[in-house]
Amino acid sequence: MDLLEYQGKVLLAGAGVPASTGTVARTVEEVVAAADAHGYPAVVKAQVRVGGRGKAGGVKVVDDRAAAAAAGEAILGMDIKGHTVEAVLVEPACDIAAEYYASFTFDRAARLHLGLLSAQGGVDIEEVAHRDPQAVARIHVDPRDGLSAEAARDLVARAGLDGVAADGVAALVPVLYAAYVAADADLVEINPLVLTGAGDVVALDAKVTLDDNAAFRHPEWAEWRASEELDPRERRAREKGINYVGLDGTVGIIGNGAGLVMATLDVVSQAGGSAANFLDVGGGASAEVIAAALDVVAGDDKVGAILVNIFGGITRCDEVANGILRALAQTEIGPPIVVRLDGTNAEEGRAILAGHLSASLRSEPTMSDAARTAVALADGRDAR
Ligand code: GDP
Ligand code: MN
Repeated sequence: MDLLEYQGKVLLAGAGVPASTGTVARTVEEVVAAADAHGYPAVVKAQVRVGGRGKAGGVKVVDDRAAAAAAGEAILGMDIKGHTVEAVLVEPACDIAAEYYASFTFDRAARLHLGLLSAQGGVDIEEVAHRDPQAVARIHVDPRDGLSAEAARDLVARAGLDGVAADGVAALVPVLYAAYVAADADLVEINPLVLTGAGDVVALDAKVTLDDNAAFRHPEWAEWRASEELDPRERRAREKGINYVGLDGTVGIIGNGAGLVMATLDVVSQAGGSAANFLDVGGGASAEVIAAALDVVAGDDKVGAILVNIFGGITRCDEVANGILRALAQTEIGPPIVVRLDGTNAEEGRAILAGHLSASLRSEPTMSDAARTAVALADGRDAR
């Protein structure tokens, strides 16, 4: 889950990372009231889950009430890379002496955490890394060892910081790492991390991505989850506890096991089609889960056919077949369904379906046959 800037700052501040704080406003009146309360100059910042707000005109420093109103007017409702601005963050403007970049994320290849620090912040870090790789200092952190004060000082020195900035950033880096670990975050990125005129080091922006797999041990995330803008298909899937990712194509995909589902997407693509989604019913899926999955996939208007690809292991194909029939009996499933069953109890599963096969429920012996049929049906060509 991606947090909005203000949510990320609340999380970081709670973990001891110095971060600017302000007031969330959703109307021009609220923007003006918040700016009045904080005093001028103030800054008005679009709250959307994409970067580059500054460049898009979504961050404005305002010197008086009229400018605050104008900024609220301009930014609320603005479209930034397809995201509509519904709220802004109003903060006292910061007196910026220098802008840095700091982040922690995973390095999956190294199987370690990775910290990045650069003295060239406030700009696109990918661009900095491309132009001048030396300008981005890196540190791998083994979660078993943690990040020592010495390692932090070394990182800061390699990033080329010195003086009061070096002290302040060296003190902040271990706190930021601890915050990232405690939050079960996949990413914390501070750009810019600023040195103020008064010599303090403060997070002026925050991009935080939380690991959804850890949601079960973070009841405090509930409020943030409620504010997430999900694809309506993804929202429905989440309500049913289904592992679903929406895509743009026309063939609805249901499979068991992430690897098989990925392979199914490939086979559909090879057959000339395009997948409407990724949906993994997991291991040991019951008839109820299959019925719920069909309901979610069929609820996507772009889906012209549904491909159910099951390799029975713990999941039994007879259960899957029963789930399909149950779904068809309970609700109207619009698009035709093409089923490929193999593995545990595949024969029993096919026998269960046999009496119900029709133009809208087909069974195919192999994955590629099933993909070809589903693609043809989704294209409006009958497969036979
Ligand atoms: P992003 O463009 O989406 O990453 O948004 P940021 O929050 O990073 O803001 C973009 C830029 O706006 C920063 O790099 C700063 O240069 C500037 N900015 C943000 N807040 C302030 C502020 O309080 N005072 C001043 N002077 N500039 C600010
Ligand atoms: Mn930024």
